[in-house]
Amino acid sequence: MNPKQPFEINLAAAQSLDAADPFRKFRERFHIPKIHDTEVIYLTGNSLGLLPKKAREYTGQEFADWEHLGVEGHFKAKNPWLYYHHFHREALAKIVGAKKEEVVAMGSLTANLHLLLVSFYRPTKERFKIIMEANAFPSDQYAVETQVKFHGYNPEDAIVELSPREGEETLRTEDILATIEKHGPQLATIMIGGVNYLSGQFYDLVAITDAGHKAGALVGFDLAHAAGNVMLKLHEWNVDFACWCSYKYLNSGPGGVAGIFVHEKHGHDYSLPRFGGWWGNEEATRFEMKKGFIPQPGAAGWQVSNAPVFSMAIHRASLEIFEEAGMDVLRRKSELLTAFLEMIIDRYNENNPLRALKIVSPRDPAARGCQLSLKAVSNGKEIFNRLNDAGVIVDWREPNVIRMAPVPLYNSFEDVWRAGEVLNSVAG
Ligand SMILES: *Cc1c(COP(=O)(O)O)cnc(C)c1O
Repeated sequence: MNPKQPFEINLAAAQSLDAADPFRKFRERFHIPKIHDTEVIYLTGNSLGLLPKKAREYTGQEFADWEHLGVEGHFKAKNPWLYYHHFHREALAKIVGAKKEEVVAMGSLTANLHLLLVSFYRPTKERFKIIMEANAFPSDQYAVETQVKFHGYNPEDAIVELSPREGEETLRTEDILATIEKHGPQLATIMIGGVNYLSGQFYDLVAITDAGHKAGALVGFDLAHAAGNVMLKLHEWNVDFACWCSYKYLNSGPGGVAGIFVHEKHGHDYSLPRFGGWWGNEEATRFEMKKGFIPQPGAAGWQVSNAPVFSMAIHRASLEIFEEAGMDVLRRKSELLTAFLEMIIDRYNENNPLRALKIVSPRDPAARGCQLSLKAVSNGKEIFNRLNDAGVIVDWREPNVIRMAPVPLYNSFEDVWRAGEVLNSVAG
């Protein structure tokens, strides 16, 4: 099967795609929410991924160890709390395409972004600009704005925003590269989303990283919508830094522990400015409580506080599923599933020109993740409300965008087909 080839759109076709899907078994690993005893069609894994069934057992282990060991759990728990961040490294490294030492599960996304910018946005009189998306997630906008002010620069001068061309919805790579070149001599850092949260566009991270480096800038990405969604090779692509959250495609629970990547070329540079804390200090001397911060090598040297073990236990349960599934196989299913949704939306639009849901995500499967963003021509909010009432859980972004994200780990082709049937019935 090929995501560019047309599928037939009917229940039997959806069911036969499911029957041929080696990923079918993973759906059983998650709790699918129900309304009136019926499983919903959950298309909002881009916002909050579903609960892996094993998460209870994994957190249960930590409850038991805390109950029986108290503080001794730091050393004697089945998974000693002192070393908890080591348990995620291998899986995280595969998900973002990194070496184990380049990643660590820690903190929360926006706080981590600040910590990374402390090291990787160091404006000078000559180089003080930072490039980001004009429609970046608000938290990223606030983080960058306040970082710029913290260094005593004016956001109006220092922040260069990338906007789509008039009448277009997504960024053209050529325009991104031209902007990097234009501001090159004044550019300190590029920090954009890997996959844009609103349009679902997956940027050309290789071209952006290369162009940024050519201009003499550092390059990092917010992978909140990319980690666990698209194929990433951060090490090979020579990306300087990245951060992500674990509660979207990584299914690790609301506000769950996040993660960072620091390329190995920076991981041993102890001269980099950073905001330290005891967990980032070298493990051998962490408890000696001595003066003088000695960072651990690699990404672990950016840790600040002791690990949020309960959240990290959930994260382990989820990452194990990714380990078993493999990102490349996952991505292949994802492309098919989203192509199937795309055909269903196209057919809907042909039949409903006045209530069209214009696909604003890229048409090229390589330039998007699993999410399709639909701009409503009219009655968008009403269509959205009716979908949710009918058990098709999608999300709404003001003023007129419905986002649908079929997630390959737990959504089926039948889910997508049924979502299309509900759409036809509520809005036709
Ligand atoms: C989800 C998301 C966030 C949320 O940040 P938190 O610190 O986890 O609350 C930030 N940035 C982007 C791009 C996101 O998609």
